[in-house]
Amino acid sequence: MVYKVDGLDLQRRLGLRSTTPRWAIAHKFPAELAWTRLEAIDIQVGRTGALSPVARLQPVTVGGVVVSNATLHNEDYIAGRDASGNEIRGGRDIRIGDWVQIYRAGDVIPKIADVDLAKRPEGTEPYAFPGTCPECGSEAIREPGDAVRRCTGGLICPAQAVEKLKHFVSRAAFDIEGLGAKQSAARTGLPTEAAKSTPSFEPFW
Ligand SMILES: [Zn+2]
Repeated sequence: MVYKVDGLDLQRRLGLRSTTPRWAIAHKFPAELAWTRLEAIDIQVGRTGALSPVARLQPVTVGGVVVSNATLHNEDYIAGRDASGNEIRGGRDIRIGDWVQIYRAGDVIPKIADVDLAKRPEGTEPYAFPGTCPECGSEAIREPGDAVRRCTGGLICPAQAVEKLKHFVSRAAFDIEGLGAKQSAARTGLPTEAAKSTPSFEPFW
């Protein structure tokens, strides 16, 4: 929400700071939180071969929106560590079957904020991040200093091929009209992202 001083004469009197007006102020709503069950962790492969874990959730309403997917960032985040190896969430890892707290602020992608260890089902195992690409079976390696594990398949990897093609024709690159995500996927014989999953929020992959 943005509050503004209504009168133009008052706006002129208040003037501007270097980048923002003195006569308007933004008010952000607090983050919305909800608890739900983590049903599965899927791995998506991006243009550069990065393996991104996505949480599949028991659908839950967070701030008026039904959420069934959330980002899990990378394998360290799932394990309860940050990029420097320091504990996050008190070192609590995230496992399939866990009761997790979903966090959503504004229009951003839902995230998993916390996990309730008291509700962890018996017999769960720490999540084992795959060492091979789920799309092409190539080895997925993590270079020192890199937070993400990447598929080494290059263009033999259908996921990388389609993501590269999508990027090539996109507005950010060659801007080829009429050749979008749908056609890119059709050329490689892959289902489109839209057909593969039905996210309840704007897809972020
Ligand atoms: Zn691959």
